[in-house]
Amino acid sequence: MAKTGRKLIIGCMDWRYNGIIDGLADGTSVVLRNGGANAEGLESSIRKALELYPDITEIHIMPHEDCAAMKFVRNVLDGNEEAGELLQPLVDEFAGCGTEDIFEYNRDYQPEALIRIVEEAINGRKTGIGGRTYVVGSDGRRIEIKTDYISLGEMPTAKGHEHNACIIVDPFFKKTEDMAKAIGVNAEGMYVAQVLDPDNVIADVDLILKRVHPEKITLLKTGAMKEEEYERVLDLMRETFKELDVVDFGSASIKKGETEEKPKADRHVRKNK
Ligand SMILES: [Zn+2]
Repeated sequence: MAKTGRKLIIGCMDWRYNGIIDGLADGTSVVLRNGGANAEGLESSIRKALELYPDITEIHIMPHEDCAAMKFVRNVLDGNEEAGELLQPLVDEFAGCGTEDIFEYNRDYQPEALIRIVEEAINGRKTGIGGRTYVVGSDGRRIEIKTDYISLGEMPTAKGHEHNACIIVDPFFKKTEDMAKAIGVNAEGMYVAQVLDPDNVIADVDLILKRVHPEKITLLKTGAMKEEEYERVLDLMRETFKELDVVDFGSASIKKGETEEKPKADRHVRKNK
């Protein structure tokens, strides 16, 4: 059997991605999700993933059509809404683009941004081999960059589904149904933001609050982050949310070759004032 390395998957936090990620990821995958599959917003998480997991051999970046994050950016650029301090950096990325074709701009921009980040992270250069795109590091490390633009037809319809929850999770891949079960919500409408650097998630949570009006925000711990990093997420969250659940999803690790652990029922809830 051919040796396959670890996948790093970058997608939007939109709930309509959940099934797409389920189909692409396996138990060793690192999944990062934010508003718009935005590589720059995840830069330090991507760098950290490449450092922690030198066996990453492919990175999927998956911007999509009809993206709420892009609609937000368009709204701000058109002067109909204020970005606010946390989301201004996201808007600034698109300052030079026409707002008519913002989805297409994002489709083309994210792979470019990702390649730059990977080149810098592994001291490498972009190379095309047999119609595929790689970044080859100075040490010979070779990472394939795969861009999948997700069209509306590939996603479930948003109609009739409430945005019932939002979860913030570290990047160990878990099946959507298992996550939904662990936090006690319907998987349809469940937004999922995933990061490796706690600081990367805050702007997205702000966006979720502006756009999704979730019934509940949960920090789902899978054991991929250090305890102090969870604390950092919690500290940042407490400044923003009235109520925050914390669910311990088990002490899973993302070491190569290990399979997923079953979610534990073990759950503790922290409420903020
Ligand atoms: Zn989106």
